[in-house]
Parts: sequence; C-alpha cells; structure tokens
Amino acid sequence: MEYKNITLPANKSIALIAHDNKKPDIVKWCQDHKEDLSGHTLYATGTTGSVISNATGLTIQRLISGPLGGDQQVGSLITEGKVDFLIFFWDPFEPMPHDPDVKALLRIAAVWNIPVACNPISADFMIASPLFATEFQRSVPDYESYITKRTH
Ligand code: PGA
Repeated sequence: MEYKNITLPANKSIALIAHDNKKPDIVKWCQDHKEDLSGHTLYATGTTGSVISNATGLTIQRLISGPLGGDQQVGSLITEGKVDFLIFFWDPFEPMPHDPDVKALLRIAAVWNIPVACNPISADFMIASPLFATEFQRSVPDYESYITKRTH
C-alpha cells in the first residue's frame, strides 16, 4: 500500500458514538469539553447524538442509529475524508446485534489512520493534545496508486 499526506484542518470533523451503557460517559465527556468541541464539526449516531445535544446544546449532525446502520455511515464518511476523529465508547461487556458493524468501523478507522478514543481517558488525552486544534498532516492510503496497480 502506498500512502500520501493530507492536511487536516484546525477545525476537525469528529464522530461521536456510545453504546447504551456508555452514553452517560460520553454525555459527561461532552459536557466537560463543550467549549473545545464547539469549534469543530460534530457527527453522531442517532441516539448518541440526541442525548448529547439535549444535555449540551451542541450542534450535531445526526446519522442513523447504530444498530440500523449508523456505524457503517460513520465508516463511509471516514473513507470519504469527511470524518477525521472518532470518539467511540463501545461496551466491552455486552454483545451487540451489530457487532460486525462495530468491528468494520474500527477496521476502517485503522485503514484510514483516524485517531480513535474508545474510553474517556483516551478522549481526554486526545483533546488535550496541541495537535487537536491545529492543522496536521495525516498519512492516508493513496487510492489513485492503489487502483492503478490493481487495474494494470
Ligand atoms: P446509537 O448507536 O447512538 O443510535 O445508540 C450507537 C451504537 O449502538 O452503535
């Protein structure tokens, strides 16, 4: 795989997802970091987006609920370069009907070199980084060279 650099803008696009037992954690995290988050573009799966916006008043672009395909929507936005941060508090204790979607989303985040926080402390470290609110170079798969190699 060949890679190329893209520039992440200072204003990031952040996807927020939490499984049901983790929704209180993501709401608290968003309340604690409301000011920092308000400078960025926020996406969330359906129910996560509702509870966060009700609790914080943050503007969130809501996608479909996770079990109905919201995780896959987030994965799709990552491949399109429209989401460049993932805060995903998944539940390590409960099996989910959409476990395959969760695994697929985490794989796509790894493929596209997206920072992922799976718990509040990781999210705290990420948002405290000086890189969070500045332009930053991110290495991503070079799709043009990939497709050229596969078709010649
Ligand atoms: P929800 O989906 O925000 O609609 O609850 C999250 C998930 O379960 O993946």
